[in-house]
Amino acid sequence: MAEPLPKILVVDDIAANLVAMRTLLSKLHAEVVVATSGNDALALALDHDLALVLLDINMPGMDGFEVAEWLRGEDQTRDVPIIFVTAAYKDDAHRLQGYHVGAIDYIEKPVDWRILRSKVSVLLELYRRKQELKQANHIMSERSIMLQTTLDTIRHGLGMFDAQLCLQAWNERFFDYPGYPAKLATRGTPLAKFIRLHEKRGEMVRKVADRLADQRQAWRFDWSLASGRTMDVKTNPMPGGGVVIALTDVTDQRRDEAAVREYASRLAAVNATAHDAIVTIDHHGKVREWNPAAESMFGFTAQEMRGHSLQRIMPERFQQWHEQGLLRYVQSRESEVVGKTMERIGLRRDGQEFPIELSLAAWGEPKQPFFTAIMRDVTERKMQEVLLVQMNQRLSDSLAELQKHHQELLQLSRMNERLQSCANMEEAVAVLQEALATLFQGLAGELLLQEGEGEQVTRAGHWGGNKDDSFPPSSCTVAAEWQQAASGREGCRLHWENIQGGCCCLPLWEQGKVFGFLHLQQRSARADDSIDRHSGLMSTVRESVELSLANLRMRERLKDQAVRDVLTGLFNRRYLDETLPRELSRAARSQQPLAVAMVDVDHFKRFNDTFGHDAGDAVLREVARLLRQRLRKSDIACRYGGEEMTVVLPGLEVMAARERMEMIREEIKALQVEHAGVALGTITVSIGIADYPRHGNQMEEILRKADAALYQAKQGGRNRVIVSEG
Ligand code: GH3
Ligand code: MG
Ligand code: MG
Repeated sequence: MAEPLPKILVVDDIAANLVAMRTLLSKLHAEVVVATSGNDALALALDHDLALVLLDINMPGMDGFEVAEWLRGEDQTRDVPIIFVTAAYKDDAHRLQGYHVGAIDYIEKPVDWRILRSKVSVLLELYRRKQELKQANHIMSERSIMLQTTLDTIRHGLGMFDAQLCLQAWNERFFDYPGYPAKLATRGTPLAKFIRLHEKRGEMVRKVADRLADQRQAWRFDWSLASGRTMDVKTNPMPGGGVVIALTDVTDQRRDEAAVREYASRLAAVNATAHDAIVTIDHHGKVREWNPAAESMFGFTAQEMRGHSLQRIMPERFQQWHEQGLLRYVQSRESEVVGKTMERIGLRRDGQEFPIELSLAAWGEPKQPFFTAIMRDVTERKMQEVLLVQMNQRLSDSLAELQKHHQELLQLSRMNERLQSCANMEEAVAVLQEALATLFQGLAGELLLQEGEGEQVTRAGHWGGNKDDSFPPSSCTVAAEWQQAASGREGCRLHWENIQGGCCCLPLWEQGKVFGFLHLQQRSARADDSIDRHSGLMSTVRESVELSLANLRMRERLKDQAVRDVLTGLFNRRYLDETLPRELSRAARSQQPLAVAMVDVDHFKRFNDTFGHDAGDAVLREVARLLRQRLRKSDIACRYGGEEMTVVLPGLEVMAARERMEMIREEIKALQVEHAGVALGTITVSIGIADYPRHGNQMEEILRKADAALYQAKQGGRNRVIVSEG
């Protein structure tokens, strides 16, 4: 836009003058506004921004002086230069009046056009300069408002100091921050004054002051105030001298930074010293952090692992699972492992797998999370756990074993006590049947005992098994060869057969001879029934049984010796005296008959005389043996004296007894007895029989009658059986 031309107001009541003036001024690069009267002039002066007024004095109505005075009185026109152009008032008085009312010049008519043009040109130039200045001022004030607005809106405290370090511009925060009363700040306040204030408060501000005063280079530093706050100070020298100072309160920021630094260094210390591997991966599964413990645990250095997939340290079979888990977490934030602790398998550089305890945390941006894992090598712990379980098991096993053992010992001692009080073998066998069934649970057993010297073993008792089991079992070699064991072997012999369930034979010894067996056999192939379970106890039990039974045998032998005749093995007379009355009263109670037979070898003396006393003994032994064999268990055979024997036959009356004794007599007669290689010839016996109640109810009476019958038999020719007559 072109600059508007400066305006010159020409006031003259004579039109010709106006035309001449317009022509003259037209070359001066200005717009000429004309007025023909004072009033017109005033109106135009208010409408236009004038650079100059050329004013005629002598005009009808309002004259030039009055117009000038009025223009001076108005704000808008006060500074417009006025040049009077007049023909009439040339005297000094009027000239003075003209200056007095504000003219700057006074030109007389006829006008010297060169002078007028020159003066007008100068004034126009002056006007132009003034206009420029005004413009510049306007811009300046706009800028300064802008600057202040900017200063007020930024979040830093800003202060501008001139070359003398006096305050020129600032915003409120500039004083707010360091706590200087903003009211005290005025334009031109020297920087030193603010500094002094801080010095008064005892702050160490010398360095701060020096840096603020340095107009050659920019500074940036933290300023710790006595209030405890920290200012970030930036100074910047201005091109024309002076310095701009920017203050930012960074107290919170510095505290946060310090906290972050402290946290980071603490984290680094933990990472470096932890025994656990601490590993961070990004959402691609690439390793970001790898601490020294991870190095020694997996055998890869941090340098080798950084940027590489974590799959390197996991067995191949878990790699896909890991990959999918990572993806699922990134997509849906769902995970089986994040936020948890679990056991997993790790892979060392040398390919060795080992158990780890893994705790996993996720952090960072939801779409690009990081995962930090803490891993602990639990190989040792696992081993210890297994060991502990084993030890515990062993402990409870041995406790159970101990309890079982204790229980068994109790039962054993109870069994021994009971055996002690047994009067005979039968009672002892009954006790053993019961006690051994309890002690050897799951086993069947039988007790095999030799009835008499040199005889076969027979089953004395059994428990837990099939009654029809015959001994020896086919699987039992000890029992099959028991005779051999009895003659040849020392100690006990155990043998195990696991084909059809184990069994074992425990020989019972007495004075170097086996007198029986304790035979045990598994009832089923179940582990609970296994014979092995009892192996610890067997030896002890065997000894107990052996000792008790041997004692009993000894006792029975002694008792036998007291009641038996040594030569014939028959009961002796004393036994008969004790037993027969008992048998008689039993017969009376049960109302049964009882027969008594007296047996006497015929012409026995001859054997002695012919073959010697030993041959006589042999005859007695053979007759006695035959008697024993042919009699029932309930019958009682005694040696009454010499070669005379008494047989008690409970339950038989004389006729039945006679029949029985006839058979025996016949058999004796048929005996072929040799002694020292010499046949002793036929042996015959005479027998007399009496019975209860027919021949009496007292022992003496019956014996007497039987004896009388015997006498009759002798008398009758011997070798016969006679029944008592009375
Ligand atoms: P009779 O047919 O009348 O009974 O004639 P006997 O010879 O059998 O009877 P006697 O009473 O005359 O003889 C019995 C003999 O038996 C007398 C005695 O020397 C003998 N004697 C008794 N006890 C024993 C013994 O233990 N051993 C031996 N060898 N002889 C005995
Ligand atoms: Mg005789
Ligand atoms: Mg006789």
